[in-house]
Amino acid sequence: MEFIDLKAQYQASRELINARIQAVLDHGQYIMGPEVAELESALAACTGARHCVTVSSGTEALLIALMALGVGPGDEVITTPFSFIATAEAIVLLGARPVFADINPATCNIDPGLVEALVTPRTRAIMPVSLYGQPADMDEINAIALRHGLPVIEDAAQSFGATYRGKKSCNLSTIGCTSFFPSKPLGCYGDGGALFTSDDAIAAAAREIRVHGQSRRYVHTRVGVGGRMDTLQCAVVLAKLDRFEWELGQRQRAAASYDALLSGRVQLVGHARDRSSAWAQYTVVLDERDRVQAELHAQGIPTAVHYPVPMHLQPAYAHLSRPDACPVALEMAGRVMSLPMGPYLDEAGARKVALAVLGACGVALPAAGEPAAV
Ligand SMILES: *Cc1c(COP(=O)(O)O)cnc(C)c1O
Repeated sequence: MEFIDLKAQYQASRELINARIQAVLDHGQYIMGPEVAELESALAACTGARHCVTVSSGTEALLIALMALGVGPGDEVITTPFSFIATAEAIVLLGARPVFADINPATCNIDPGLVEALVTPRTRAIMPVSLYGQPADMDEINAIALRHGLPVIEDAAQSFGATYRGKKSCNLSTIGCTSFFPSKPLGCYGDGGALFTSDDAIAAAAREIRVHGQSRRYVHTRVGVGGRMDTLQCAVVLAKLDRFEWELGQRQRAAASYDALLSGRVQLVGHARDRSSAWAQYTVVLDERDRVQAELHAQGIPTAVHYPVPMHLQPAYAHLSRPDACPVALEMAGRVMSLPMGPYLDEAGARKVALAVLGACGVALPAAGEPAAV
C-alpha cells in the first residue's frame, strides 16, 4: 500500500499526460511556452479568481505574494504555527516576523478568535493555512483584516479544489497560493505553484516579480526572483485537470469510507459543514501516536505526521516567539497522524487501514452487518 498512489494516478491519465508533454518537446518553448497562459486561464476559471500567476513552487507563490504586498524588514505577518515550514519561511526570508496565533484543536486551522489581539501597527498581512485541504475560517479572518485594512493570503497549498461557503479555495481572500508538488491534490511531476488574486495591481506585480522584477525586457522595475513554472510542468497540470473533479470526488469517497468506520471511535480532525476539503490528508488524533504508527507500519500501512514540530519551536524560528506561545499546536503536533489517501484508494483499502487503526487503538471492531457509523 502507498501513502499516496501517484503511479496509479499517472496510469489513469497516461495518454493525455504523454501527449501534452510531447507537444511541449515538439514546440520547444520550454520557458513561458503557450501552456503557461493556457493553464493560468484554466485555473483562474476553476477558482473564480480574476488572475492566476503560475510560479516555480508553492513556497515561491507565498514569497511572491508577500513581495507583491510590499512586506519587508520590520513587518509582521500573523500566521498559524501548525503548517509546513514554507509558510513561516517566506515571511522570514523577507526580513519580516511571523507572529503565530494558536490553532483550533477541532480543525487544526488557525483560531480566528486569537488573531485580532495580535494585530499591531507593524502587522502587514494575515496568512491562514487551509490545512489538510480544509479551508480555514476565512470569513472571520477577512472581517478582522477589513477592520484593520490588512490583506489576507490563504496558504492553499493543500486545498486546491476545496470549497468554502460556495466559493473556491484560492479565491477566498486578497491572494491565494497553491502548490503543484506531486503529492498535493493537484500535482505536477516536479515543482510548481500558482497564486490567485482578483486585484489587477497585485497580479501585475506578481507577474513582474516572477521574472526578476522585469516590467519590459531588461528593465527591472523592482527586485524580483527567478520564479517561473516550467512549460512542461504546466502541460502536466493541464492534462491532470481533465480528471481533477472526478479525483476530488474519489478523495471524498475515500474520506467517507474512513469516517464510516472511525467516526465516534477515534478522534478525528473535524470537518465543518459549510466547507468541503480537498482531502490532501485524512488525519486522526491519537493519544499514543508513535505506538499506533509503529503497529500500522508493521502491517505494511504507511502513515505520516503533518507536522511533528510546530513552526514556532523549530530551531531556526524558536527565537521569534515564547516557547509556550501556542500550546494547542504543540499538543496536536504530538498526536496527529495522517492515513493513506488519494483518488485511487479503494473501499477495501480504506477499510483495511481503518480496521488496523481501530485494532491498534484497542477499539471494538464493528461486527459484520452492524451499521458502520455510530
Ligand atoms: C506543500 C506546502 C507548501 C510549499 O509548497 P512547495 O510547492 O512544496 O514549495 C507551503 N505551504 C503548505 C501548507 C504546504 O503544504
